[in-house]
Amino acid sequence: MELTLLGTAAAEGWPAPFCVCLNCEAARRRGGVNLRTRSGALVDDDLKIDFCPDTVVQMQQTGRSLARLETLVFTHQHSDHIIPQELWWVERPFTQTPPARPITLCGNAQVLKMVEEQLGDMPAEVRPYVLRLLEPLRPMVTPSGDEILPLPAEHIEGALVLRIRRSAARGGATIFYGHDSGLYPPETLDALAAGPPLDVALFDCTNGGQTVDYRGHMSVSGVVQMAAELRRRGCATGRTRLIATHFSHNGGLLHEELVQAFLPHGIEVGFDGMVVRT
Ligand SMILES: [Zn+2]
Ligand SMILES: [Zn+2]
Ligand SMILES: [Zn+2]
Repeated sequence: MELTLLGTAAAEGWPAPFCVCLNCEAARRRGGVNLRTRSGALVDDDLKIDFCPDTVVQMQQTGRSLARLETLVFTHQHSDHIIPQELWWVERPFTQTPPARPITLCGNAQVLKMVEEQLGDMPAEVRPYVLRLLEPLRPMVTPSGDEILPLPAEHIEGALVLRIRRSAARGGATIFYGHDSGLYPPETLDALAAGPPLDVALFDCTNGGQTVDYRGHMSVSGVVQMAAELRRRGCATGRTRLIATHFSHNGGLLHEELVQAFLPHGIEVGFDGMVVRT
């Protein structure tokens, strides 16, 4: 399994367009891994998580395409995770190579409503997407054979974090996509503990080095706490890649400083274009 982190910033990106704070200016100066676009990920070539406004440029920068996409799964309805107008690029004439079959599009009720508004009265038989509702703690198996377990997040109403178990034919790896969320609700931790060991776990680190843990997101200390909790419960093992992502300039720690902060805890720091192989 190959997981590509396409973007690793919070909603406004880092540097943020209207901001010349010390952290945005430092990111502009240092460049490289300190330049972060809005979040999203690609699993191999067939499964995408979220579709942010930076998706076009992310596909260009990674040299990848969505031509083989089978499943598109959304965590929640914030605009840095779904931009419904851009779902049309799957259709002719925006692509000369549309998918042979409709893409399975999974999301909570709020996400599906946004997509439905885009599709309007387009008849089901010609729609490029088949919509599937995700409900917390109800596992869903995609036509490709992957199992998606949506779990409650501590974020906006309806927001989900996801445990994705690839089909056996695709290697069977298990990913925990843990953002956007504050400290995970007990039922989410219980469900993860009841499942298979994780190959990869991603955590929300919007608040970076801030000592106050604002609700709906985590800081370095929250990520360390949740990683320890997953280890204690046995779903994170010595083989699990633990990775923090979804960083805001307001968090105050640049990439190199985040690396130092997480190093003693065995947690990696995500960056745009990071590829995780299991
Ligand atoms: Zn977000
Ligand atoms: Zn800033
Ligand atoms: Zn959000």
